Amino acid sequence: MDFSSKLLENAVNEMSQLPGIGKRTALRLVLHLLKQPQQHTELLVNALHTMRDQINFCRNCHNISDTQLCEICANPNRDASIVCVVEDIRDVMAIENTSRFKGQYHVLGGKISPMDGVGPGELTINSLVNKVKEGTIDELIFALSSTMEGDTTNFYIFKQIEGLDVITTTIARGISVGDELEYADEITLGRSIINRIPFESSLKSN
Ligand SMILES: [Zn+2]
Repeated sequence: MDFSSKLLENAVNEMSQLPGIGKRTALRLVLHLLKQPQQHTELLVNALHTMRDQINFCRNCHNISDTQLCEICANPNRDASIVCVVEDIRDVMAIENTSRFKGQYHVLGGKISPMDGVGPGELTINSLVNKVKEGTIDELIFALSSTMEGDTTNFYIFKQIEGLDVITTTIARGISVGDELEYADEITLGRSIINRIPFESSLKSN
């Protein structure tokens, strides 16, 4: 792509670093911003800057939060003895949308994926295992996407907590193999939490 302006080219190059944004889309977005009052660009840049500067993670569940303890963990009506293990904030949002889960979450921050250089140490697995060892959790619900990475992560955690006094279940029917959790519809996802099954029987069915 030949640019008549170095400034424009720089902006397009930065924008096209974002996932799913090719050079053409980046150019369209940048030209759109140029047509808008300058204030629009400033609001966007400020929002991104403030987010990066002040972003915080809940000290209990590791979800993105503006406070030390997120709204879910701080809510006395949520059952801290049932913990749903998810990959990231998008899964928390998807499950919260179903209004069918009243426990708490544990946000891993990703899935074990050697291809992408993500090992167990990059995720919040230690923190989860420590919470289980404290003995306050009765049930862990594995709610990772049923992809190879999701299954590997579930199994790794399952092995880490084997022998400890906790029930492990996994979300049930309705979530197809290979589906990403965030794309499941609310009713299907809600049902799959209610109808969860013991984790060990999910291993046998594979
Ligand atoms: Zn939290």
